[in-house]
Formats: sequence, C-alpha cells, structure tokens
Amino acid sequence: MSKSILPIVAIVGQPNVGKSTLLNKVSGKQMAVTSPLAGTTRDRQYSDISWNEVTFTLVDTAGINPLAKDELEHNLHKQVDIAIEEADLILLVADGRLNRLSVDQSIIQKLRRTKKPMVLALNKLDSSKAWEEKLAEFAALGIKNVFPISSINGRGIGDMLDFVAKQVAKTSEEEAVLEENQNGIAVGIIGKPNVGKSSIFNAIVKEERVVVSPVPGTTRTAIDSQLEIEGQPYTFIDTAGLKKKTYRQAQADTYGGFQTFKTIRRSDVCFLVIDSIEEITKQDQRVAQEIFSLEKGIIILANKIDLFRGDKEKLRDYVSMHFPFLWMCPMFLVSGKNGEGLEEALAAIKPIFESRNKQVDNQALSEFLSKKIKHNPPKLLRDQKKPKVFSLHQVNANPPTFELLVNHPAAISQQFRKYIENSIIKDLDFWGTPIILKLKGKDKT
Ligand code: GDP
Ligand code: GDP
Repeated sequence: MSKSILPIVAIVGQPNVGKSTLLNKVSGKQMAVTSPLAGTTRDRQYSDISWNEVTFTLVDTAGINPLAKDELEHNLHKQVDIAIEEADLILLVADGRLNRLSVDQSIIQKLRRTKKPMVLALNKLDSSKAWEEKLAEFAALGIKNVFPISSINGRGIGDMLDFVAKQVAKTSEEEAVLEENQNGIAVGIIGKPNVGKSSIFNAIVKEERVVVSPVPGTTRTAIDSQLEIEGQPYTFIDTAGLKKKTYRQAQADTYGGFQTFKTIRRSDVCFLVIDSIEEITKQDQRVAQEIFSLEKGIIILANKIDLFRGDKEKLRDYVSMHFPFLWMCPMFLVSGKNGEGLEEALAAIKPIFESRNKQVDNQALSEFLSKKIKHNPPKLLRDQKKPKVFSLHQVNANPPTFELLVNHPAAISQQFRKYIENSIIKDLDFWGTPIILKLKGKDKT
C-alpha cells in the first residue's frame, strides 16, 4: 500500500550547495524506490528511500513547501525551523570546497540546541584527496556526524546513508505502530489557513463516535481520530494544529505546507476545503495541486455555505473553473458551523476509496481499449513512427495505475494519452481519484 507513514529526513542548506543533486542521486541509486511519482516528469522534491531495510522519506525542504517556495529557497533559517519541528533527522548540506566559516554559525547554534539527530554533509568533495583535511576543519564546528560526499559521483553517500538509516530506524518502528492504528480509510482535511478545516473536523468528530484517540505507545504528536460510520472505520488524520489552535497560528503558512504534505502522504482520500465566501487564490490551487500530484482521492468542500448569499450553481461553476484538473472529483457545499452538507460529503468517501482499490481485469480493459481506439484512433505525429497501441493493463491499485503497451511512447500524442486516461476514469468508473497511466514501449528501436 502506498499509504506510508515514513520517518522524514529533511535536507536543508543554502541554494546551490547541491541539495537537489543529492536527492536525485540517492533516489536514482535506489532501483527499488516505490515512489508514486516514479516515471513522471514532475520535479522531485522528495523520494522514498529504502536503505539497509529501513525506509524513510528524503525531502528537500527548500523545495517542498508549495505555499512559500520562493521564500524558503533563500531562507535557510526557515528551512531549519521546519526541519527541527517536523523531521526525524536533519541533513544539513554545505559546499565542502568552501571553508568552515562559510557555514552559518547561527544555524549551527540552532541545530546544536535541538535534540533531533543531525548530519552535516560536505558536498562537492569529488576527489578523495580533499576529504581528510576537510573533516578535521569541520570537526572544529563541534558537529559529530560529518560526512564528506560528492552528489555528482556518489562518493561517501553510502556511508552517510548507513548512518542516517540507523538513526531513523527507531522512528520507523514507531511509525509502524501508528500505521497499525490507522484503521480503515485514512482521510486528511486539507486547505489553506482559515477556510474552516478545524471547524469541519470538530463537526465531524462531534457528530460521530470517536473510537480511539490518541495513539498509545508512540512519542508522535499526531493524534488521529478514528470513527466508524455505518460499520466502516475511518481515520481522520490530525494535521498537527487542527486542534491546537495557538500552535497552528504561531506556525502560519510556512509550517502549514510541510505538515500538509505529511498529512496528504498518509491519506487515501482528502477533503480539499475552500472558503465559499472568499475568492479562490493561487494558494488554494497549489494545495489542490499537491493532493493531485500525490495521487490521492479528492472531495472538494466549499465551506461556510451558511454565509453564502449568491447563486449556488454559479458558485459550483466558479469553483470548477478554478480547479479544472479536478474535473473527476465531487464537490459539496458545506458548513463546518451548522454541519450542513457534511453527511453527504462523508458518504462520498467510501465509494472513492473503493474505486481506488479495485482491480479491472484484462478482458474488460481489452474491450474498453478497442472501443476507444475505434472511436478515436491515435494520430500520426510528425517525424514519428506510425503509432500502434497493443494492450492496457492495471498494474496497481490505490492509486490506480495502468500500463498502456504501445510500439513507441514518443509516437503517442499527449491528446491520445489524455483521452485514454480520462476515459478510464469515466467509462471504468474511477470517479474522485486521479489515476496513473504509464506508456510502455514494445519495440526497442
Ligand atoms: P541546490 O540549490 O542546493 O539544490 O543545488 P543543486 O543541486 O541545484 O546544485 C547546484 C550546482 O552544484 C549544480 O551545478 C550541480 O551540478 C553542482 N553540484 C551538486 N553536487 C555536486 C558535487 O557533488 N560535485 C560538484 N562538483 N558539483 C556539484
Ligand atoms: P482552519 O484554519 O482552516 O482550521 O479554519 P477554522 O476552522 O479555524 O475557521 C476559521 C474561521 O472561520 C473561524 O472563525 C471559524 O469559526 C469560521 N468558520 C469555519 N467554518 C465556518 C462555517 O462553515 N460557517 C461560518 N459562518 N464560519 C465558519
């Protein structure tokens, strides 16, 4: 199952020290990475790494926060604050070719005060000669775990990962306990600040019987609420701060993004909450994009409908227009204040979860494919071979993943690919969830 709750190793560091090169190198080395984003062209800001039988998520903190990306890239202090708050291990990357004074002393001070394990990676030490003296120089900073590495040629990375894996192994065990406690369908309530996430969460939890909360036996801060609705167990994931109001406000937007990422990762289906009496902003769209990129089921909740005075059909159109990529997702007009619409929204979760987990057999897919090709055959692209489509298979569930066997992926137009992707959702009933369609080339040349 991709519903992983993994320890988080946060990469922090100044721009240009090689953070993303390191992330790519480590994830590239890992042939067994089970990232849902594998094979897509999106920028990778995180990757699931299995090393010495320990699995953790490596995150480039400078790139992860969709809400404050530009700001974070250039603000090491913020990255470090987030990492101290949220990560299980902090991996500070510096340019090892520079002298130790180039490493910000106030950052080192900050990191020394935290109890979180931390590692200093001295990057860009491509040749073995430079290592020894650099180590001695940086040891004077008082940091114990210094690893000279080269993200370009891979030197030293294995030793560093050995250490990292050992450090996060304990968290990994605790997370497994959390995961066991995560019963039934995992639901995250996601949205920018003030749209009404905690109000909705509280309204749901108040109405329904909370079965277990909090999770015993771990030191984790997450306190999930487990509910049972008509015999179906659900785990509503507590995005830290949903309930702890002051903490949340102190954190403002910057922190929210990272927490949001963690909640989305653990969810099967997310409630995407927007405020129906405010304009939809880029921030709403970025949050939506993040759920979509992580390939989770999505239900749109236009909240505060008790305050909305306009035409409700127009409101629906307005929302749909701003989230065109969520055309397959249901929308409900709700109120966290008086509970309006929430029952219907809750009822929509299970069917989406079921679609995400179903497996369509090859026979049905084959009939589907020939019908589609007959109706709308793939067009010949300029400078490409004649496109040929052979077969369609479902290779995974939750998220539903399909493989289209063709002669050459390059010969297949984006339109045709989109057409098949959208038709899978419509004709084979995968409403409410993004699906993944991979093209696989049969011919070698
Ligand atoms: P980021 O801004 O910290 O994510 O840095 P990037 O990963 O974008 O790297 C910045 C530049 O440093 C790029 O030109 C990389 O090719 C280069 N770089 C990264 N790692 C190494 C390394 O280990 N050795 C050398 N020589 N160059 C590196
Ligand atoms: P969060 O930051 O997304 O968790 O938002 P909150 O749940 O804290 O809500 C932000 C503000 O909107 C608070 O003042 C809530 O009382 C108010 N609010 C939330 N949902 C509703 C709603 O459905 N109707 C009305 N009238 N107010 C709401």
